[in-house]
Amino acid sequence: MTRIAVVGVGPRGLAVLERVLAWARTGRFAVTVDLYEPAEHLGVGIHGTDQPEYLLLNTVCAQLTAFSDAEMVGDAPTTTGPNLFEWARAHGVRVDGPDGPRAVRWDDHLPRATLGEYLRWAAGTLLEDLPAGVEVRHVRRAVREVRPALHGGRVVLDDEVRDADLVVVTTGHGLAGPEHPYPLPDALEEIAPGARVAVVGTGLTAMDAIAALTVGRGGRHVRAADGTTAYVASGAEPHLVLVNRTGWLPCARPVPQEGRRPDEPRFMREDQLRRVAHGSSGLDLRRDVEPLVEAEMVHVAGESAPDVLRVLHPPTSWPDASSYRAAVRRRAVHDLREARRGLGSSSYKRALEVLRDQRDFLRSAVDAGLSGASRTDFFGRFAATVNRCVIGPQKERIEELLALFDAGVATMAPGPDPAVVRSGDRWALESRRLELPERVEVDVVLRCTSSWPSDDPERDPVVARLRTGTGLEPGRWVSRDGAVVGPDGRATAVVVLGPPCEGVSYYNHYVPSPGSSSRALLDIDRVLATHLPAVPAAVASERPE
Ligand SMILES: Cc1cc2nc3c(=O)[nH]c(=O)nc-3n(C[C@H](O)[C@H](O)[C@H](O)COP(=O)(O)OP(=O)(O)OC[C@H]3O[C@@H](n4cnc5c(N)ncnc54)[C@H](O)[C@@H]3O)c2cc1C
Repeated sequence: MTRIAVVGVGPRGLAVLERVLAWARTGRFAVTVDLYEPAEHLGVGIHGTDQPEYLLLNTVCAQLTAFSDAEMVGDAPTTTGPNLFEWARAHGVRVDGPDGPRAVRWDDHLPRATLGEYLRWAAGTLLEDLPAGVEVRHVRRAVREVRPALHGGRVVLDDEVRDADLVVVTTGHGLAGPEHPYPLPDALEEIAPGARVAVVGTGLTAMDAIAALTVGRGGRHVRAADGTTAYVASGAEPHLVLVNRTGWLPCARPVPQEGRRPDEPRFMREDQLRRVAHGSSGLDLRRDVEPLVEAEMVHVAGESAPDVLRVLHPPTSWPDASSYRAAVRRRAVHDLREARRGLGSSSYKRALEVLRDQRDFLRSAVDAGLSGASRTDFFGRFAATVNRCVIGPQKERIEELLALFDAGVATMAPGPDPAVVRSGDRWALESRRLELPERVEVDVVLRCTSSWPSDDPERDPVVARLRTGTGLEPGRWVSRDGAVVGPDGRATAVVVLGPPCEGVSYYNHYVPSPGSSSRALLDIDRVLATHLPAVPAAVASERPE
């Protein structure tokens, strides 16, 4: 009997369990699965059910599932089950609408806590119906270390070591979850009402922190019949100064189009990548990859190309702070209008969406090997641009942000990328991109720039030790398929999947979506095909070269 250990059972570990069970139902093998997860409930990970309701998912609910379908995994076996939308509907989940609570719609952004309840339910459902020959145990303990062995791997607990034929490490955001400012709102309790707070970074973490410091402190967003939003302050909120590097706010997620299939790409194609690859020096991001990306976006944008280019290439200097702030507002209003028109009508939003639709092209560029400096540039500047364009908040969050500007609760910093300097026992933001300089004093600097898994051995001892244990440079400690590389340079039977692989491969932070090819699930199938002779490699499809 094959022994599989799964270390960390949040959504990704749950997906590993789902794939093992789907294959085991074909009756081809017997397996013991040990699920190492200190939390009481399996599958939940960082989507704890005790989070405040105002912390919302950035994915619409019909795009999240703990199960599988033929489009996700090709010819491999599937496990039928409801996606989050279907589950929420069946369980009578209601959401706030302008006229009071209403039934869930497929394109709602539900509270993260609701996803947590769904994942917990899904884990229970999978475990209720184990195929013959499968034994699953929940080991409610934190793993200290995982060691590749000659055959298989060793799972090190505080007081014992257990062997397995295959160890899949899915420790995600680590034992303590994402770093400061999480957990919300507790981590921000000490920020006093009226304090001036520089919120550094305006991505999804910042949106969460802003929600915690406003609605989380008793403020209310009131929607009028004409669709405008006004903020009614509670008096307990601080004053927020939003700081980021590029200067623009993130783009709002557009209204999705049901059943939409992205068009075939014209420029962002694997054959184009091969054409521009220059031998062993690797791909150069700016020279080889970005021109293809931009050509695709401009092609899809048609007449709205100038707007798209303005988003991609923000101005680097401004006359003064007020012209900068007015431009940020105008840009956000324009983006919001297009987000409301949605992917069905807005060519501007469809052009930005290219960065999401053609994610596999970007992954292939990373897999094909970016040259050293390009890799750093990709995971820094370029990934931040992608996040700003298509991993933004739901449009209501941007409406609310504009309402906070109007209510005087929030304002933009003095231009893009100001210097953050000490000023006595306070801090100052000093403009660097304004012709007419401005300086803004703040009491607190709140960094909202990282939702990255940590290198900190306290937070994720397993991955930190695996990384340093290989002695290889950061991008090389696991293979393209997630296998930890042994001292002889060969892939071991310890495999790391999900967020800890960010930097080796691209975009590993998500819960799988139904109805389209799922790299998360296909990656797992490929791992199983390598280690379980009964899983045919041909069905667990190849990653494109
Ligand atoms: C604030 C935030 C919001 C997000 N919102 C969304 C969203 O809306 N939609 C979306 O698709 N994605 C979202 N994500 C991305 C997120 O990465 C995925 O949703 C998902 O949580 C990844 O699953 P995971 O199982 O890899 O990691 P996690 O959810 O972090 O789960 C990892 C599990 O491993 C366990 N573990 C860790 N170390 C050990 C150890 N040493 N021993 C044993 N167990 C261990 C942990 O206890 C945890 O249960 C968000 C991420 C963040 C940070």
